[in-house]
Amino acid sequence: MEESAALYVVPTPLGNLADLTRRAEEILRTVPWVAAEDTRHSGPLLKQLGAQARTIPAHRHNEHEAAARIVEKLQAGEAVALISDAGTPGISDPGARIVAAVRAAGCKVIPLPGPCAATTALSGSGLLDEHFLFYGFLPSKGGQRRQALEELREQPCALLFYEAPHRVLETVEDMATVFGERTLVIARELTKLFETIHSLPVAEGLAWLKEDPNRQRGEFVLMLSGAPANAESGEGERVLKLLLAEGLPVKQAAKLASAITGAAKNALYDLALALKAG
Ligand code: SAM
Repeated sequence: MEESAALYVVPTPLGNLADLTRRAEEILRTVPWVAAEDTRHSGPLLKQLGAQARTIPAHRHNEHEAAARIVEKLQAGEAVALISDAGTPGISDPGARIVAAVRAAGCKVIPLPGPCAATTALSGSGLLDEHFLFYGFLPSKGGQRRQALEELREQPCALLFYEAPHRVLETVEDMATVFGERTLVIARELTKLFETIHSLPVAEGLAWLKEDPNRQRGEFVLMLSGAPANAESGEGERVLKLLLAEGLPVKQAAKLASAITGAAKNALYDLALALKAG
């Protein structure tokens, strides 16, 4: 084992057991304690590895208590591995509070790289954005969800969301309403038998999902291409200038240029005002 009294943050497979890294396997096999989101869920994995560790439940509702127990073990010189049901702890999963408490207690935290649905999906998305924003789960209530999406509309980076199968239709419908013309990439059941990665205009997403009920099953990462970088450069500005030259009022020119190019309407409006003033 690498070091004794540390908290190891250990990603576990999303579906394909072969995705457990050799380092993760070694740690889970050798630590005396494993803090697990659901000890029943993680039992088979630990058993398969021949792990002897005793488990500490560490889920969303007992993170403070679990953190105290973990700090106790670490201060007694015993290593602890932290795992969630699948993927990387702390990424839309419990773990962050435990890590914070362990660090605050002056104990060592050693995070391991490994499976994570967001990075796996993004790497297979083909989205060309230079940057990405990982949002995780959107609010489950429609109004709040649309509001959250509205707030992300002008972000010039790819947007990544986690979604559950029973909400995927309404979420994709809201995305189409809020984002208009963007590319949507639906990544489903990654690393599993029915893995699907499909790109399409966001406006066609709902119809595509409805076409075959199987497309609505399983676990989802939804990704949207980002807002065009800025209105000051490129297509948005070119079209805006043409429309202004044709004598269109500022507001109408900004609205049309935004509809034609997908550039942010507010930014185009500001630019049109600046062009008029200048
Ligand atoms: N901590 C995990 C990670 O590192 O990705 C995420 C945990 S979160 C509770 C579960 C969500 O992750 C699912 O609802 C889904 O959005 C996404 N997810 C997990 N496994 C997936 C898979 N195999 N394919 C696509 N999405 C997946």
